[in-house]
Amino acid sequence: KKYVYVWNKNRVEGNSKMKDILGGKGANLAEMASLGLPVPPGFTISTEVCKYYWDNGRKFPEDLKSIVEEAMTELENVTGKKFGDNKNPLLVSVRSGAAVSMPGMMDTILNLGLNDESVEGLAKLTNNERFAWDSYRRFIQMFGDVALGIDHEKFEEALNEVKREKGVKQDLELDANDLKKVVELYKKLYKEEGKEFPQDPMKQLWIAIEAVFGSWNNPRAIKYRQINEMDKQGLLGTAVNVVAMVFGNMGEDSGTGVAFTRDPNTGEKKYYGEFLTNAQGEDVVAGIRTPKSLDELKSINPKTYNQLLELMDKLEKHFRDMQDIEFTVEKGQLYMLQTRNGKRTAAAAVKIAVDMVKEGLINKEEAVMRVKPADIEKLLHPLFDPEELKNAQYIGKGLPASPGAATGKIVFSADDAEKLAKDGEKVILARPETSPEDVGGMNVAEGILTSRGGMTSHAAVVARGMGKTAVVGAEDIVIDLKNKVIKSNGVELKEGDWISIDGNEGKVYAGKIKTVRPEGLAGDISELLEYADEVSVLGVRANADIPRDAKVAREFGAQGIGLCRTEHMFFGPERINKMRTMIVSKTEEQRKAALEELLPFQRSDFKGLFEEMEGFSVTIRLLDPPLHEFVPESDEQIKEVAEMIGISEDELRSTVKDLEEFNPMMGHRGVRLAITYPEIAEMQTKAIILAAIDMIKEGKRVQPEIMIPLVGNVKELTILKESIKQIADELIKENNVDLEYKIGTMIEVPRACVVADQIGAEADFFSFGTNDLTQLGLGFSRDDYGKFIGDYIEKGIYEKDPFQQIDREGVGRLIKLALDGGRSANPKLKVGICGEHGGDPDSIEFAHLVGLDYVSCSPYRVPVARLAAAQAAV
Ligand code: ADP
Ligand code: MG
Ligand code: MG
Repeated sequence: KKYVYVWNKNRVEGNSKMKDILGGKGANLAEMASLGLPVPPGFTISTEVCKYYWDNGRKFPEDLKSIVEEAMTELENVTGKKFGDNKNPLLVSVRSGAAVSMPGMMDTILNLGLNDESVEGLAKLTNNERFAWDSYRRFIQMFGDVALGIDHEKFEEALNEVKREKGVKQDLELDANDLKKVVELYKKLYKEEGKEFPQDPMKQLWIAIEAVFGSWNNPRAIKYRQINEMDKQGLLGTAVNVVAMVFGNMGEDSGTGVAFTRDPNTGEKKYYGEFLTNAQGEDVVAGIRTPKSLDELKSINPKTYNQLLELMDKLEKHFRDMQDIEFTVEKGQLYMLQTRNGKRTAAAAVKIAVDMVKEGLINKEEAVMRVKPADIEKLLHPLFDPEELKNAQYIGKGLPASPGAATGKIVFSADDAEKLAKDGEKVILARPETSPEDVGGMNVAEGILTSRGGMTSHAAVVARGMGKTAVVGAEDIVIDLKNKVIKSNGVELKEGDWISIDGNEGKVYAGKIKTVRPEGLAGDISELLEYADEVSVLGVRANADIPRDAKVAREFGAQGIGLCRTEHMFFGPERINKMRTMIVSKTEEQRKAALEELLPFQRSDFKGLFEEMEGFSVTIRLLDPPLHEFVPESDEQIKEVAEMIGISEDELRSTVKDLEEFNPMMGHRGVRLAITYPEIAEMQTKAIILAAIDMIKEGKRVQPEIMIPLVGNVKELTILKESIKQIADELIKENNVDLEYKIGTMIEVPRACVVADQIGAEADFFSFGTNDLTQLGLGFSRDDYGKFIGDYIEKGIYEKDPFQQIDREGVGRLIKLALDGGRSANPKLKVGICGEHGGDPDSIEFAHLVGLDYVSCSPYRVPVARLAAAQAAV
């Protein structure tokens, strides 16, 4: 096996396709070197070594040592410097990097190779004593923190002590002598911690390499992988990149920065970035000084600026995606230190995908894959209610680091955030800045507020990745961790007080503000979803019972209604008593009379749905729930209804009691109601057909589909079908119209799956009611499974909540069985899914894979489902 891959001006061994073994950073460094970009030379120790290390009780392959030494010699030769040399020392960075980017999880050590002697040599060689000692103190600090686990705050304290003594605030105000003092203090600190600072560069290198590989399994990294469900991706580990140092801390003509080829926040096509002069490494991200915008680089050093833009263009074209790059300028000379596909907000993801299609950079299939279904969902997420916002108490402003609107109780630590969130509280995590230890708390918070740092600070990057609302760098807001208060503008907020943050504008408000959903789809999203519709095979319909929902569904791009639950139509104030009367009727005549009164309501309800969905299929399910759900309950209701039908209250009470069931979910419901009380189904059929006839008479198109729930035996269907057909055909003939309608069944009882060939021979369509099919298939009561499902998931019995994501190997097989049976009997059978799963991306993929015709979900999920359907097809 090859363990080490080098890149330098003479040869490059890796490329961007080798992320699995070189990690993202190493693979792209190699790629950039191949492209002829100015990348300092170096080599990557592969992720396979990391795996070996952990598989073999933290031991390295035997020959690794000599291979790394060879690579170091090659690095010396191409740089003309010598590792450990006193006059012209080669310094390197030791950088981690897994195949999937894990921001801030594993730290980098810079300036490795310095020691008490070579620091002097470096000072002489560069004629820059301050620079040499700044590099040295940074190295000692990072090495102590990252490799030896000395608390980095202790280093900060030592540094602050020297600054205090001198009466200065900024690191930059320290001169070479001050920095020497810092080095002394740091060394003292090592002693106090019982650690040794190795003077031998080779020793330094191996300790650092081992620390990087070791960090693969530190609690932070493990937690990050857990949160992001990365454990199934089969990652081998992290790679280690050893890179010759270039220096941004050599003076005002040097600096370091990060840049994006497009705005990661809005997606706008404009260069975007931040940099600091006379700085090194992560100074920009750490929020030590407030960084400058790229535009300022233009005025400071136009040549470097132009070169940077040129290289950024080149990288974006090459990788055909928005790039997030890290660069350093050493005395006016530009170096690229990293490039990767940039993280972006949901809005930016959509805009960039659409723009790149228009620019001809990517095709529609690729565009569709560039946006996560969850991103679409986020974009339809709440904003602050404009009315409440008018009266909100504004307390300050920061950078709009991650969009959205969030309101919650203030907490000051990640631990508190996790504790409160566990109790179901909504929290906003407020910190001066965040670090990787806070990721768990950030994940459960509604939003994140920091008082320091820029758009590329840890808080900003992580929040964007998580899709959390964040406001960062709100400098006029004091976040006092010690006293657990936030002070700003004369307002003081304590822990547990409500606060609201607006990630679109960066504004912060005291108190709780209601959030609202944006309406409809606009601009880029609707364009992207049009691409999605072109790409996908599976149709997307909506579950909607009333015209208003149907309208929303259409606006979101639903192609029809997959499920209209008619029972919701019986609850209106004028209707419910008629419904109750119908239910407790003693005779068929009484029942028919009550139903006759309900008919006009249903007819106009259906008409409204047909109108909103003109030209699309509308599937209407006949009454499904057990009758006891509608019966009068309170004394007052009993009295009213008893009077209406002219029986005593006691008699009514006993009728109601008779309707009670031990297990209503498996009781007298669905098609069983229609078998015992055919007149209910008859009335509903009439209402549907009459409403459809009304449409036709108005010259409108209509495609009604009558759906019979809970069929388990084909005879249930044949009995109902006969009566529906008779009524419908008669009405159609009477009215002399040309109307086509379909009769189909829900498939939600396991028996129906088994005898689907029989049912398919009689039905025009199947719609899988996956909620009931899961309930009956697993034998998990929908109303009770919450008690044990947590343990089931924890123990890995089911991977996900089977009511949210289709249990492919169980319920999925039932679906497959039913589909094969049904289509064998009726090749034209239309088949879809309704129920919660219709909006779940994984279940949608399943629906596509088994060859269903459509999924149906709630109106607000339609956009997500459209994208998921397209992704399943790519
Ligand atoms: P991360 O994975 O946290 O981004 P990196 O390995 O990219 O860590 O290192 C962080 C920063 O350190 C880089 O952005 C760059 O500024 C600096 N850095 C890393 N290697 C070098 C090097 N060889 N010369 C100069 N700066 C470097
Ligand atoms: Mg970092
Ligand atoms: Mg980096």
